[in-house]
Amino acid sequence: MNYQTTAEFARQLDTADKLATYRDKFLIPQHNGHDAIYLCGNSLGLQPRSAKEYIDEQLTAWQSKAVESWFDGDKPWLSYHKEVAALAAPVVGAHTDEVTAMNSLTVNLHLLLVSFYKPNNKRFKILMEAGAFPSDQYAVESQVRFYDLDPSDAIIELKPRSGEYTLRTDDILKAIDQNKNELALVLFGGINYYTGQVFDMQAIAKAAHNAGAYAGFDLAHAAGNVPIKLHDWDIDFACWCSYKYMNSGPGGISGIFVHKKHHHDQSLKRFAGWWGYREDKRFLMQPGFEAAIGAEGWQVSTSPILLLALHKASLDIFEQAGGIAVLREKSILLTGYFEYLINTINKTQGREIYRIITPTDIESRGCQLSVICNYKAKATFNYLVSKGIIGDWREPDVIRLSPVPLYNTFSEVYNVYIALNEVIKNIDI
Ligand SMILES: *Cc1c(COP(=O)(O)O)cnc(C)c1O
Repeated sequence: MNYQTTAEFARQLDTADKLATYRDKFLIPQHNGHDAIYLCGNSLGLQPRSAKEYIDEQLTAWQSKAVESWFDGDKPWLSYHKEVAALAAPVVGAHTDEVTAMNSLTVNLHLLLVSFYKPNNKRFKILMEAGAFPSDQYAVESQVRFYDLDPSDAIIELKPRSGEYTLRTDDILKAIDQNKNELALVLFGGINYYTGQVFDMQAIAKAAHNAGAYAGFDLAHAAGNVPIKLHDWDIDFACWCSYKYMNSGPGGISGIFVHKKHHHDQSLKRFAGWWGYREDKRFLMQPGFEAAIGAEGWQVSTSPILLLALHKASLDIFEQAGGIAVLREKSILLTGYFEYLINTINKTQGREIYRIITPTDIESRGCQLSVICNYKAKATFNYLVSKGIIGDWREPDVIRLSPVPLYNTFSEVYNVYIALNEVIKNIDI
């Protein structure tokens, strides 16, 4: 598309936007009596207008039927998570029985590592991206220590080449191959939270399998952002949170994926609980754990119905909008327009004020652009905040800005461009 730097052009894109009406399904934060420009869906997605209603429905069920709601009514609580799984599965490219919603993300990462990190004397190493989200680093480090292994020996962290911000797929594949005799697991983000780089999950999983290792992904920044095909890509396991691009509320419920090929594997260890017990016999309360077949077999505790209701409110919107592929079409245009506008500032100014470290290749990024501010970074960020533009700040000089196709507009992105221009004069950059 031939983008243009005019407000009129941005308005034209908004007029042509088939998803434009979806913005109204969300509650937009306010700034000085106007809608803020919210570009922080990578951190906390906005509240669906319907969220209260979905919660209210469950509060009413609790009020009127209390414990009987587990089995009664048109949405019995006992199987409520299945409805949610059926809606979440297409978002991540999975079969319904490969997905379930439970716990929170880091907890799920631990539970899946219990099953898929099986170190022995020969194979005990985990390969991951350097600069992974801290919670993932802590989880992996503590898992390694749990087996009395030394993290500096057992964890291989892959860094971008010097002078580069993102990893080259070839370098990742090469590192996997180089460590093939000792590798137990390759664990990557689907998208790196800092740079916004999408990793080639299919190629990474293939290389991991060729090396005799499992491949798992943390999809916190990928789920609901870019199309994923967990099943077809032969990923062993994955987990994600629902409060970023999946708009399911702060601390919202997490999702897990376990590939079908592992559903009957009795050799996989797990930390079990009654909610993972086969459903037909769960309430016989017998000793001896028998796992439900499928991702559900990893469940531990009673479903948190209110969190599931919030998740369903959001996933219903994904479905109504036509699914992740439809969202992605707009997302490519929207983030592409934003990238064009930021680069225009540099061209006009004749110097690089803003450096986008997110890959330019569309396949290697989602909604997010991570922007290094070469001058007065924090003051730039504060200026944006004062104008009601909400992105987020990452030390030492990065602003992450994520236009989301469900609720952001082309005109908003244009207005951020205006602010990024203004700030140059305003704080004397
Ligand atoms: C957001 C995020 C988390 C947060 O984990 P919680 O357990 O939900 O607090 C973990 N890992 C990654 C990669 C994230 O982006």
